[in-house]
Amino acid sequence: MNSRTTGKLPIFTATKSLKSTYLFADKDEEKISATVSGSALHAMLHAKVNWMFDVRTSLLDKENLPVYKTSLASLNFATAALTFLYSDTPKEEGYFGDTASQQTFYIKAPGLAIVSSYDFYTDQYKYRQNGVENCRNARDHSFNLMLEERMNAFFGVAHRYFLPDGSVTTPKNLEESISGKIFHETFHHSEQAIMHYLNDLDTLLAFTEALHKAAPEATQLHGVVLDVFTQRMLCHNCNYSLIGMQHSHEKGFLNALGTTANIFGIDSSHLMMGVRVSAERAASHSPPIDILDEPTDTGQVHLVGEKTVPSILQAGIKSLGTKELMEGRQSDITSCHATLFSSSDFSRKMLENQLGKSMSPESNKRKRPLMEHNR
Ligand SMILES: [Zn+2]
Repeated sequence: MNSRTTGKLPIFTATKSLKSTYLFADKDEEKISATVSGSALHAMLHAKVNWMFDVRTSLLDKENLPVYKTSLASLNFATAALTFLYSDTPKEEGYFGDTASQQTFYIKAPGLAIVSSYDFYTDQYKYRQNGVENCRNARDHSFNLMLEERMNAFFGVAHRYFLPDGSVTTPKNLEESISGKIFHETFHHSEQAIMHYLNDLDTLLAFTEALHKAAPEATQLHGVVLDVFTQRMLCHNCNYSLIGMQHSHEKGFLNALGTTANIFGIDSSHLMMGVRVSAERAASHSPPIDILDEPTDTGQVHLVGEKTVPSILQAGIKSLGTKELMEGRQSDITSCHATLFSSSDFSRKMLENQLGKSMSPESNKRKRPLMEHNR
């Protein structure tokens, strides 16, 4: 049985280019659209992760031995960018124009623990959630609260989707998973670290402030597109969490984003969240990567409205042409900040410090995360 025979929606849609058009239909039938290109941005995200690998591999200790003994094959790094789709005309003036403007920012969190979430499960006395047994990995209470928020938003719409076996699909399942022995393997994924980072209030303030600085004329925010490059395809539960974020208008990411946008005088109501993911290879519990090699790019236009069902688009880097796009452009990569959950033999400070060195001294003084502006 698959989604075709059950009539339910798949948890993601495979596309070739990730190029997507969002059509925002206003209550007064006024339409505004935004076409967001995918392959070049994802090539950059891919190159940034590779750059981070190079930094990680080149770090040597006092005896000239590699600092990081864990092989890259056993890690999964991911990085992301957030694109804001906005208009610059106040609603009172009526006409928005036909096309929404765009600003893209890469995630960048110098000096923040989100670069690696090492202490989430090594400092067990500080971080272990009450009532959770002392198994191999401890728990971070605030991470779990935000995870529950994302997943609860998904549970509300789960009946619409075709859910593969072994999925966490109810609050009770999630509770069992959090106190279970394989919680770390099930949920401490780099993609979850990205979601956790995005949900942080300081992050949201920094993003909206960056938008306000780059586009002081922005008055109306229509939505955001989250682009994620991850080495391995998203697992079911990360798909669910992202679908949950797309339904977080009442509580969680979109709700908080709307509130922070308001601080900068940017109006927003029922924000759209598009999600596009590219991956290099399959994960142990994901479908094979060939599933992403779709010959055509159908269904690119997404009508956005309160009743529409958001989707997650996924592509393989082969069909995106990522490697060809980045040929000769490696020198453009000056820095990368990514999120990852790492094993306990990971020395967090070394990599973070090294990544931080690529920041300008002025940037390093800032407490809040900075976004790297993509022009
Ligand atoms: Zn996952």
